Amino acid sequence: NPNIVKYHPINDATWEANQKVPYIVLTRTLEEIENTSGRLKIIEILSNFFRSVIALSRNDLLPSLYLCLNKLGPAYEGLELGVAETSLMKAIASSTGRSMDQIKSDCQSLGDLGLVAEQSKTNQRMIFQPTRLTVPGVFEKLKEIANLTGHASQTKKIEKIQTMFVACKKSEARFLIRSLTGKLRIGLAEQSVLQALALACTLNPPTSKDEIISVDVSKKLNSEQFKTEYDELALILKTTYCECPNYDLIIPKLLSDGIEKLPDYCKLTPGIPLKPMLAHPTKGIQEVLQRFDGMKFTCEWKYDGERAQIHINGSEVFIFSRNQENNTSKYPDIISRIDKCKSEDVKSCVLDCEAVAWDRENKVIQPFQVLSTRKRKDADQSQIKVQVCVFMFDLLYLNGESLVKRPFIERRNLLKQYFKEVEGEWCFVTAIDTTVMEEVQEFLDESVKGNCEGLMVKTLEQEATYEIAKRSRNWLKLKKDYLDSCGDTLDLVVIGGYLGKGKRTGTYGGFLLACYDQESEEFQSICKIGTGFSDDALQQHSEFFKSHLLSEPKSYYRYDTSHEPDHWFDSVQVWEVKCADLSLSPVHRAAIGIVDSEKGISLRFPRFIRIRDDKTVEQATSSQQVGSLYSSWFLFKLPYVILKGSR
Ligand code: ATP
Repeated sequence: NPNIVKYHPINDATWEANQKVPYIVLTRTLEEIENTSGRLKIIEILSNFFRSVIALSRNDLLPSLYLCLNKLGPAYEGLELGVAETSLMKAIASSTGRSMDQIKSDCQSLGDLGLVAEQSKTNQRMIFQPTRLTVPGVFEKLKEIANLTGHASQTKKIEKIQTMFVACKKSEARFLIRSLTGKLRIGLAEQSVLQALALACTLNPPTSKDEIISVDVSKKLNSEQFKTEYDELALILKTTYCECPNYDLIIPKLLSDGIEKLPDYCKLTPGIPLKPMLAHPTKGIQEVLQRFDGMKFTCEWKYDGERAQIHINGSEVFIFSRNQENNTSKYPDIISRIDKCKSEDVKSCVLDCEAVAWDRENKVIQPFQVLSTRKRKDADQSQIKVQVCVFMFDLLYLNGESLVKRPFIERRNLLKQYFKEVEGEWCFVTAIDTTVMEEVQEFLDESVKGNCEGLMVKTLEQEATYEIAKRSRNWLKLKKDYLDSCGDTLDLVVIGGYLGKGKRTGTYGGFLLACYDQESEEFQSICKIGTGFSDDALQQHSEFFKSHLLSEPKSYYRYDTSHEPDHWFDSVQVWEVKCADLSLSPVHRAAIGIVDSEKGISLRFPRFIRIRDDKTVEQATSSQQVGSLYSSWFLFKLPYVILKGSR
């Protein structure tokens, strides 16, 4: 638009049309986001930034988006920065003339190397003014850094970091260093970024500088017409991203054809992992029968292994994880036997499966813990000790056609028609189609005897499409321990530690756990946990969290000061936890406002089960899930509570 020559969103961040977006504009935007707590406001800030980028320097939208997400490309390409904190400290020290000891001590007191970097630069005088950093420039350099491997790569990485760091001004230093450490620490979830992008596209192109500054999203959303348009675009964008999680493909099409046209171009494709369908937890068979009353459904064993999305495209085979990471090099054994199970008529396909550790001698399934000892990357087939059997349960794509909109019964028929079992290598999941309560109960018991976690119960005909990326009610999970627990395990984020006493002196004796509220992007405290750990495990957790200490809690942690831990941790790890039940709590903040306006929900008798490395902290159990677990637990127990109360 010829009317716009300059964009001035925040303070001193300006740029002219067709220039590369200055890095400072992005870091100013991130700074604003860091200082803002309302989700809508954050989306507004980001959408104004994206909108300006689209209007002035559209080619920079892709790197801008990646830098906001702190990603270098799609997850399955596996390009990671992974620069060690000490290397970054060295780079900061030598570029600012400060000593390593000073940097380390500042880092201890501020708890954030990004802030240390920024402050170290503020005190530094420059003789020459280096050229301004730009968004595409920084993004390319970060990619170069990530791509450096082999001998002397660490030294080369530091050199490249120093060149950029010298040119940093103000908050550029903070966010550059944070990007390199792998965390932006502003609590910006990918869903908000997608919404901000959809919003930027819904708003018409700006016609003047003032108009950009004055866009007040809350006001705009008051208009029914605007809101409908925005909701539609946001839905299309999110759905497209679930089917084809690759911004390299999405952004150019979005710019050339608009969001509406994305589904025509960016769709389920072998070679690109899609976000998987997930199951809803249930309290018991009764609940399953109620939900599926009058519908046809099937019960399948729920295997305790690792999800494997197997993509075949001609001679190419890929295996992706639950989180769209590329696990192909982890499973050379599976890849080498693919031809044994598929018919020659399969030219391309996407299979949904569970890879499970398999004891070849005794022909039995082994627990997840055995599978987790396998090498994660670049496994050498001759060195593999833990064998796996792949249990196939769904077919999502076949010979050029997506099957996700077809009912499960058809997908299952095609799966059985085009694939076959090979003992100990490829199996269909054990299943029965029944609606008889006793049979379901018996089948559940059998699954437990067969070393499974319980059952997955799935609709066959009605409401039986494959719901990409959804925790759907068309798939219900029935876990073996549903009777003595709250129905499901929870995946929670560790945010603090309590120093141990007595036998546990020198390690942590307990930890503060939180669920994740997707609306407010907060981590809300849910319980203190001190049970389920061996001494060795406690030692290991304590060691691990030593390198993730914070000097103060993050602004997006919600907790009560009466439960303040001795040490705060950065939100970096998810733990799977089992509990006896859930209760309303005046001190914990989980799901506050969902079930009760003032009280949160807490777990009773929580027990540590395992670390969930396959989940990011944003994928932890959400407040919404905690709320519905509490409600279903309460309904389930209600007759008992009333009965007990009336006695
Ligand atoms: P958890 O694995 O702790 O139950 P989750 O959130 O990772 O939680 P869920 O939705 O609870 O996933 O359960 C689905 C997972 O169960 C799938 O991701 C898959 O790995 C595994 N699974 C095992 N057997 C089956 C099956 N027959 N059908 C579908 N998924 C199965």
